[in-house]
Amino acid sequence: MDAQRLDSWKDEMTREVMKAESLTELQTVRHQWLGRKGKITNAMKGLSSLSIEDRRTVGQQLNGIREYALDLFAQREQEMELQEETRQLQEEVYDMTLPGLWPDVGLLHPITRTRRLIEDVFLRMGFSLEYGPEVEDEWYNFEALNIPADHPARDMQDSFFIDLPGMVLRTHTSPVQIRAMKKYDGALPVRILAPGRAFRRDDDATHVPMFFQVEALVIDRGISLADLKGTLNIMAHELLGDGIKTRFRPSYFPFTEPSMEMDVTCASCRGAGCRVCKETGWVEILGSGMVHPQVLKNGGYDPLTVSGFAFGLGIERLAMRIFGIDDLRLLYQNDMEFLSQFQPYTGRPGL
Ligand SMILES: [Zn+2]
Repeated sequence: MDAQRLDSWKDEMTREVMKAESLTELQTVRHQWLGRKGKITNAMKGLSSLSIEDRRTVGQQLNGIREYALDLFAQREQEMELQEETRQLQEEVYDMTLPGLWPDVGLLHPITRTRRLIEDVFLRMGFSLEYGPEVEDEWYNFEALNIPADHPARDMQDSFFIDLPGMVLRTHTSPVQIRAMKKYDGALPVRILAPGRAFRRDDDATHVPMFFQVEALVIDRGISLADLKGTLNIMAHELLGDGIKTRFRPSYFPFTEPSMEMDVTCASCRGAGCRVCKETGWVEILGSGMVHPQVLKNGGYDPLTVSGFAFGLGIERLAMRIFGIDDLRLLYQNDMEFLSQFQPYTGRPGL
């Protein structure tokens, strides 16, 4: 291993490096010099067979060559990467105006969106949300709401009774009224909104066995029918637009007295009369009334000192109205093509 031969290594290595035409070729050359069995590595291993003096001079020389090699390869690698990048930029022309790939974004179901809209209206009016169990005690679902034992709703034909005695899949969200009164335990005001599932043995174009309702209950001193009408009118205008008209018709529910149903102008004919509204110009959207004194008592409130109103509405019917859906069953078929047409932010704000 003589000094002159080692001197020529630098030139030899530099020529090989400059001849390499790709990063892969450069790696091969690097391996031949600096790899585990490369020339420089081998030469360094051979140092131990030299005399102490030679070992020092040759060792220093080899170290110098190794430093030179490391720099040379690093520099050349960087140059080649830069060249490759420049070549790509020059050869590959990108059309920045092409539309990108849009990721599939999940959507909220029209029922969820409608429920949230309703919640938003009432949360702004100071209501709080309450929830109750879907498997409900018959007392909460019927007796406490003044529904007598011979009422048709208590028939096996209409309700889902389950194997536990005295339990039923709740037929409406109204039992949450009683649960809320028990929870508030005489405190005033009670101002709650209770969204949730309800179950009935119905299945046709306008009924499904599981559906969503929103129940509202307000109890305080001096609550009147005017408060109920005012609240419902605000809700109707917030959800269906300022142009909507409402009307109230007397009705009957066991747990309210007096009771009334609210109609809104028909969306199809805007009040002129059509097949959808049976030529009346109106469609019913909810049932409501002043809380029956017996129901107040059942919830632990004194009907002589406080009064209240309640209403319940079907979320599906409102969703159909808001989203322009004409068949209730479409809401439950989980047809992605159908559901994906209800993109967010295309209609009303907040949807
Ligand atoms: Zn109509």
